[in-house]
Amino acid sequence: CGIVGYIGTREKKSLLLDGLKELEYRGYDSAGIALLTQGKISAYKATGKLENLALKTDCVTSEGFGIGIGHTRWATHGKPTEINAHPHWGQHAFVVHNGIIENYREIKDALQKEGIHFLSQTDTEVIVHLFESNITKHADLFSAFEATVEALHGAYAILLITTLAPETIFYAKNAVPLILAKNPKGELFFGSSDAPLIGLATEAVYLEDGEYGALSPKEITLFKNRQARPLQFVSLPQDKA
Ligand code: GLU
Repeated sequence: CGIVGYIGTREKKSLLLDGLKELEYRGYDSAGIALLTQGKISAYKATGKLENLALKTDCVTSEGFGIGIGHTRWATHGKPTEINAHPHWGQHAFVVHNGIIENYREIKDALQKEGIHFLSQTDTEVIVHLFESNITKHADLFSAFEATVEALHGAYAILLITTLAPETIFYAKNAVPLILAKNPKGELFFGSSDAPLIGLATEAVYLEDGEYGALSPKEITLFKNRQARPLQFVSLPQDKA
């Protein structure tokens, strides 16, 4: 399973598919991407090999400034179907997740009592609905995301995007690898390992457990337990070993 993310002006569909290809060695049963450009999000998913997702998105191009997130799934909760493939979405937010949300049942029960409808059998889908529900209870999107992460028990690498913040990827990491990276052109990246980042990004932050934040061209934030932390960038190799 694996995660990739990108903010910048490159053609995003191909970039994400190439990145996921680099993570194939981690294993997966299905894959998906979400693209956010000009205020609109589109998402595509397919079961089986990445080639199936590539065929499905053959005519898709995502040029110009925007955001992309991509995911390969190794099913833990819910069969490896297209509906259960990531991204999962609510009204305006889309999420990809590697890992397991141990307390998803309680969260799902509470959200269903609020009248929220679930499409998938995954543990992951609670993240996006909880975030959207938290927005009504918090002053800003980041506080809503922070409260969402705090409610999750388990292992996760999470990327979340919303049309309400079309230049931002919200991220969180606990017990599953996630790397944040950038280059001098101002492009921003995420990867489960450095394999999809090599040759694209020059510097990376290997996130630690419990860290979360928001990445945008204007600002990169990194927090743990509500405390801001310094971004410790290290150089990435520029060639594949
Ligand atoms: N637990 C999630 C699911 O079953 C994520 C699995 C993964 O790490 O890919 O959808």
